[in-house]
Amino acid sequence: MTDVATSEPTQDAGMPRRWVADLLSDTLTQPTPAMRRAMADAPVGDDVFGEDPTVNALESRVAALLGHEAALFAPTGSMANQLGMRLHVEHGQEIIADTLAHVLRAELGAAAVLSGISSRTWASERGRLVPSGPLGLMSVGAGPYQVGTALIVVENTHNFGGGTIQPLDAIREVRSASREAGVRMHLDGARLWNAHVATGVPLSDYGREFDTVSVCLSKGLGAPVGSVLVGSAELMARARIWRKRFGGGMRQVGILAAAGLHALDHHIERLAEDHARAARFAAAVGGVAPAVLDPASVETNIVMLDLSSTRWAPAELVDAAGAHGIRTYAAGRTGVRLVWHLDVDDAATDAATDVLVDLLR
Ligand SMILES: *Cc1c(COP(=O)(O)O)cnc(C)c1O
Repeated sequence: MTDVATSEPTQDAGMPRRWVADLLSDTLTQPTPAMRRAMADAPVGDDVFGEDPTVNALESRVAALLGHEAALFAPTGSMANQLGMRLHVEHGQEIIADTLAHVLRAELGAAAVLSGISSRTWASERGRLVPSGPLGLMSVGAGPYQVGTALIVVENTHNFGGGTIQPLDAIREVRSASREAGVRMHLDGARLWNAHVATGVPLSDYGREFDTVSVCLSKGLGAPVGSVLVGSAELMARARIWRKRFGGGMRQVGILAAAGLHALDHHIERLAEDHARAARFAAAVGGVAPAVLDPASVETNIVMLDLSSTRWAPAELVDAAGAHGIRTYAAGRTGVRLVWHLDVDDAATDAATDVLVDLLR
């Protein structure tokens, strides 16, 4: 459960809070005092030589949680995803993912630039996985004429979809059909913790359906830096080589891994508080503006407003809310995104609710 420190102000003295509620992203969280102490006290060694005990502890812990043999600490979720894709896909082969996928929209073309990977996408509703999407798109054994699909990437929860949880039965259906076809699967699980807490599905039940999984410690879990890739021992040994090649071989990085271990101990179950606050906000705003927000669409900590039926452009609503101290994010031509996290409490949620209810009524 929540440790005491998480309910205390977490910013350094002298750093005034600019926002009444900062809902821009769950990457904004400040390390709690208890997390900072865990970091300061961490035993460390040179991780390029595999000698950092805190990194090794984090890697074994996350591998076990996700039902895999081994793990690799990475500086960012983007690097963990890029390593996952690099392991499974030869130059000139393709990955397939949904059109809103972070690996294709928000990693700046890295799969193409770093690994010669091409890609195609299937359309989705709010990022939700429907098996016919990947299974209808997958191209196997097409010989010298067509690009071959090597990897399906699934995102859970789905960020730009609005925190959407992927149904386990859909994942399993895609897994069994793609495995038969020799196509591998990677899970972008930046917010898999949120899916686990919202559904009660064990992390390993999700994890086992994939050849590799990336998870972020730096989103809702509140660590300042860090992601972890998991897979077989053989795959992780190869990933270790590619991580160094990508410039991600780090030294006494147990200082950061300690933040991750602390987050696993103290910040997973509390994600339910973020979900409850997002739902409370959604019920109120959806109550006055049902065309903008269907409360049933809010499954975890992310809320997407659809402004297409209103007079608002996303940037205008962001500015108007910002003038009242509520920071939000303009997403695309008609969307505004709000993300709940460790540093948004009940009072901030109430303030954001009042402001958005007024603006959207
Ligand atoms: C944040 C995020 C990542 C990784 O982002 P980094 O900023 O590189 O750590 C990957 N996938 C999803 C869905 C994300 O939201």
